[in-house]
Amino acid sequence: MSSLIVQPKAYLVTKPSVEWEQVAAFLNDEGVPDIPESIRAGEDESAAIAEISARLCYMSYGRGRRDIADFINNLLRHKDGSVFEHINYGFVFTGVSRSLTHELVRHRAGFAYSQRSQRYVDESGGRFVAPPALDNGADSEAKAKFEAAIESAAESYGALVEALGNAIPREKFEYATDHRKAIRQAARAVLPNATETKIFVTANVRAWRHFIEMRGSAFADVEIRRLAIMVLDALQVEAPLLFGDFTIETLPDGSRTATPKFSKV
Ligand SMILES: Cc1cc2nc3c(=O)[nH]c(=O)nc-3n(C[C@H](O)[C@H](O)[C@H](O)COP(=O)(O)OP(=O)(O)OC[C@H]3O[C@@H](n4cnc5c(N)ncnc54)[C@H](O)[C@@H]3O)c2cc1C
Repeated sequence: MSSLIVQPKAYLVTKPSVEWEQVAAFLNDEGVPDIPESIRAGEDESAAIAEISARLCYMSYGRGRRDIADFINNLLRHKDGSVFEHINYGFVFTGVSRSLTHELVRHRAGFAYSQRSQRYVDESGGRFVAPPALDNGADSEAKAKFEAAIESAAESYGALVEALGNAIPREKFEYATDHRKAIRQAARAVLPNATETKIFVTANVRAWRHFIEMRGSAFADVEIRRLAIMVLDALQVEAPLLFGDFTIETLPDGSRTATPKFSKV
């Protein structure tokens, strides 16, 4: 029996950081007030990066708005989103389906992706992601049909790998890796959208905000919406000033939506 996944995992693996000594040297060389008078976000590095870059535009260090929340909200309100492009967070997602990542990689601006290859990695014994609808009140007949379908796909994949191993001569390839790749890239044709994949995704704050707005909406597929809100949950802790304007609501089916106060900055 192939193993089924019902919940994805999101690991926050990279975060932004500030070289405070270099910032202090820059402020000193420019003859503007020291930290913290110049950079009021202080140890909040995500907000500090937005502030340092935004203040550089007008060399307004030590001047203007004194409250950092007000400062960041002003950037969001005026859609001065380019400064948020300096702040990057990277996640590894596991337990997500190929249909989810097909939607995810449509997000281009400000995103970088590294995804597990179905050509290099053997999918025999691979796992499958159950659509959230099967967890949410679907009757046992629907679950049984889903399980039978993935079982059949897993068997077909295994049988095809074996048959292609006989059909594609090893001697045509210099390296065994290329022979295996030729087999797996053909055999994966019978794997379903539900096949589990793993992906490393890095994006800047402007891009994450847009992704969460698009995919946290009630119109988005439930699986990617669930993931978008997991990302939001993590980023609201990491960078509350940059993601605090999103409101999370629960729909009657128990799934969540996320809506920003400041749309597409
Ligand atoms: C509910 C929902 C349903 C969807 N249904 C479908 C569907 O049926 N079929 C389908 O094909 N897709 C569908 N999509 C995907 C959608 O069309 C987008 O491809 C996806 O959401 C990425 O959005 P984006 O292009 O705004 O994001 P990004 O690629 O991250 O771009 C961010 C922003 O940068 C700007 N930008 C990026 N690239 C360019 C460019 N080349 N030229 C000019 N401006 C650019 C735009 O302002 C864009 O909004 C759906 C998305 C959602 C949320």
